[in-house]
Amino acid sequence: MTSFSLRQVKLRPGEQYRDELEVELSPLDFGGQRYVPVPEQVPAAFGMTRANTGTVFTLAFTARLHGPCYRCLGDAVLEVPIEASEYQAESPEDEQMTTPYVTGANLDVSQWAHDAVALALPEKILCRPDCAGLCGECGKNLNDEPHTHAEEHGDPRWAALEALRQKQ
Ligand SMILES: [Zn+2]
Ligand SMILES: [Zn+2]
Repeated sequence: MTSFSLRQVKLRPGEQYRDELEVELSPLDFGGQRYVPVPEQVPAAFGMTRANTGTVFTLAFTARLHGPCYRCLGDAVLEVPIEASEYQAESPEDEQMTTPYVTGANLDVSQWAHDAVALALPEKILCRPDCAGLCGECGKNLNDEPHTHAEEHGDPRWAALEALRQKQ
């Protein structure tokens, strides 16, 4: 897990600190499925800006997730660009103005990154935007085998005609 020690940076109001961090990402559970970050470690642009009453943290990176497609359960790869920011007030009375990712002098970058990715996920993760999904009749993948079951559900009168024709 990636964390950042806030002790290593001393900023005066108005000052800024920038760094490149290797952030370790953890798998996400989404819609009952598991999505694995590939690669597990991504480079992230990390920033700290000291304001008069607190510090603004920023984190930017792109996560690549691998997991099942919502429609066809095939492999889906999703790129999730993240630009997150958090604020930590200086005075501890100001509880609403603190980030949950700072504990003591430690910033939990991995947990922050994980939550930011979870919030940025689309409603449905698909292998491709026009994924045809699975056939409701037979369960086959309609991307691999486009088909319909029209004949079996055709007009019964045609079936009767067909039966008559075969008798002749
Ligand atoms: Zn699909
Ligand atoms: Zn089918």
